[in-house]
Amino acid sequence: MSWFKRSNDGLLTKERRDFPKGLWVKCEGCGGILYIKELKRNFNVCIKCNYHLKMGCDDYVNMLVDDGSFIQTDANMRSIDFLNFKGKEKYSEKLVNTIKKVNLNEAIKTGIGLISGYKVVIGVMDFSFIGGSMGSVVGEKVKRSIERAMSEHIPLIIVSASGGARMMEGLASLMQMAKTSIKLAEFSRDGGLYISILTNPTTAGVMASYAMLGDIIIAEPEALIGFAGPRVIKQTIGEKLPEGFQSSEFVLEHGFVDMIVNRKEMKEKLTEILDFFIGGHNRVKR
Ligand SMILES: [Zn+2]
Repeated sequence: MSWFKRSNDGLLTKERRDFPKGLWVKCEGCGGILYIKELKRNFNVCIKCNYHLKMGCDDYVNMLVDDGSFIQTDANMRSIDFLNFKGKEKYSEKLVNTIKKVNLNEAIKTGIGLISGYKVVIGVMDFSFIGGSMGSVVGEKVKRSIERAMSEHIPLIIVSASGGARMMEGLASLMQMAKTSIKLAEFSRDGGLYISILTNPTTAGVMASYAMLGDIIIAEPEALIGFAGPRVIKQTIGEKLPEGFQSSEFVLEHGFVDMIVNRKEMKEKLTEILDFFIGGHNRVKR
């Protein structure tokens, strides 16, 4: 097939060629076409413009924890369709299909691991599982992670990526906001250290609960961080929103997060924070 095609106005135009699937991806930041293998080596950060593309929970865990130190907890916990929710697709079927498609049981992976020798409880959300939505299982896994960190007196780190509460679980998903927040308050009273990392996007019910309750809140660059989305706010208040509204940079300027850290420097920054708060003597020698 010819790569060039004669258009209606008689000029020769170049037809868009489809890239082989699974090899290339388009950067949401600069529109550049990126080679997936190279992108993965760069922790899903665009080589051309530093845009932080979404990263799966397994890759994020591997990036942060010391090799071979991660032990997953509550790995087999799965959601059920207790409301018999019928949307475009039945929730029960959506769960089965998503588990098969993304090879995860839920939108968060939790466990215990070492970060530069420091033992921590870590939870990483995955946007590919129903938009990283928080249902009763996500809430329960977060709650158990907090309890684990509390009983072992070790820091808790949660990496969020979420569109909010899972509507297919109705009020039970909204209840997770209160449940996780109460547990974090207990953890805080107990003197626990909680570091929250916000990635693109961290919104709605997750943003309005555990994601914003960190002792230290770190955001990745250019992440969308907010409760309702900018379109909804614009429609509601009928006003033009400021430049960069709800971006990491905007919320940093307005005091919602403590710092913005490039993904490639995340482990180094966490180590610095753990050095400061926990102290080198608690480090596990490996
Ligand atoms: Zn780019």
